[in-house]
Amino acid sequence: MATPGNKLAFDGGWGYDPAPESTDHIDVKSRYGLFINGDFVKPEKGKYFDTINPATEDKLSRVAEASAVDVDKAVKAARAAYRGPWGRMKPAERSKYIYRIARIMQERACEFSVIESLDGGKPIRESRDVDIPLAAAHFFYYAGWADKLEYAFPGRTAKSLGVAGQIIPWNFPLLMASWKIAPALACGNTVVLKPAETTPLTAMKLAEVIADAGLPPGVVNIVTGAGAAGAAIVDHPGVDKVAFTGSTNIGRMIQKSLAGTNKRYTLELGGKAANIIFADAAIDQAVEGIVNGIFFNQGHVCCAGSRLFVQESVADEVIAKLKDRMETLIVGDPLDKNTDVGAINSTMQLDKIQSYLKIGQAEGGDMHQSSCTLPNKGYWCRPTIFTGVSQSSRVVQEEIFGPVLAIQTFRKYDEALTKANNTPYGLSGGIWTDKGSKIFNMTQKIRAGVVWANTFNKFDPTSPFGGYKESGVGREGGLHGLDAYVKLGVK
Ligand code: NAP
Ligand code: MG
Repeated sequence: MATPGNKLAFDGGWGYDPAPESTDHIDVKSRYGLFINGDFVKPEKGKYFDTINPATEDKLSRVAEASAVDVDKAVKAARAAYRGPWGRMKPAERSKYIYRIARIMQERACEFSVIESLDGGKPIRESRDVDIPLAAAHFFYYAGWADKLEYAFPGRTAKSLGVAGQIIPWNFPLLMASWKIAPALACGNTVVLKPAETTPLTAMKLAEVIADAGLPPGVVNIVTGAGAAGAAIVDHPGVDKVAFTGSTNIGRMIQKSLAGTNKRYTLELGGKAANIIFADAAIDQAVEGIVNGIFFNQGHVCCAGSRLFVQESVADEVIAKLKDRMETLIVGDPLDKNTDVGAINSTMQLDKIQSYLKIGQAEGGDMHQSSCTLPNKGYWCRPTIFTGVSQSSRVVQEEIFGPVLAIQTFRKYDEALTKANNTPYGLSGGIWTDKGSKIFNMTQKIRAGVVWANTFNKFDPTSPFGGYKESGVGREGGLHGLDAYVKLGVK
């Protein structure tokens, strides 16, 4: 079936023919239990919920809804594994299991990619080329550290914490699970993980991989469910560390409920990244980077470049080029290999984005959208830009988490910096310039955990990631990611 966006994107029917990825090779069960103590088990209350394909609104599977009783079982299984085989295992042996997970994941990469796109709506190009390879790379990377912790923390002892409770969002389901599980296991902890309600399927496939890799029962437990299951993990007295990725609002609630407990925590929260284009930048390259930063993956990226600051002398040129490029973006079937912009993850998220489109216009912003035709079923949003907005506009200040870019101009370096830093968030940023001196100077002064120069949204397991200000507490990835899962002592 032709994707409407395809045909219109290249006027006159000269678009690409549809090239959908096959779904023949995937195995999605009609129902999944909770993965506790090495087995898929029924939820105590017998409740299940549907997970759907946001591009078609078709039901993909039914997934168990964990209650506090199930979470308690999972935490107890994790504790028993920690006290038992996993806790006693030599680090070099632990490392072999983690490598095995990485290898099996790589072997099944194609199946993982298709399921990720079906369940979450992201283009297959993203899940195939970014999410799944990076997820496997995290397991490979942390497998290597398991027996080298003494070199990671020279002169210190590094002991595991115990049971890690981990809660993840829907925008990078398998990748977020890997960011959380791999370092926890490498440091000798056991895990209870809750995936997001709308994207549980690759976590269920990961549970199968973990079982196939032969990990002792209870080392990794995966409990699907809603926010209440997440809260039950946070509040469980048997959890030693909470690792949360999600919105700043929920992160704040979690931080409050952890106050006064002995639990360690890391919070990876929202963002409102600024891309700054100086007049001396390679403009075409910058425009492509902006498009990649906000429109690919539907803007469902915590570090999405959702604000753009363009130096005044090139603003007209940049905006014109951006509008041209937006017209060529292919919006539609996430499984089509040509698709640039897939489906919005859920009807709730689409409502949120649409409400911001109204807010932006009501605030006096000038809204421009690509003219692509959207499929009749499913959840879609056209790539959108706002010009004529100010620093106080809500579309400039608040995280929309959709393909919506707010554009402003600046004249001088200091103005760009002040505007870029004028947000409660501080997760990431981007600079586009020909001058190395500007890059060095700006990257020191932008208050954000990651700042890219002449590129955007590039990730590597060796590189730490995390936020300043309301974007979070702690770092994941790289050596810093180990620190979050160990208790350090003096040798
Ligand atoms: P969310 O609503 O905060 O949900 C995140 C996870 O927390 C989900 O699994 C959710 O379950 C669960 N949850 C909900 N209420 C909870 C509670 N009271 N206690 C414990 N857990 C609870 O965020 P989202 O909308 O799924 O994800 C988008 C957000 O994640 C954005 O703000 C984005 O910036 C952020 N994000 C940050 C990073 C980073 O590294 N900084 C990376 C990716 C995403 P349900 O699924 O059932 O709601
Ligand atoms: Mg889904």
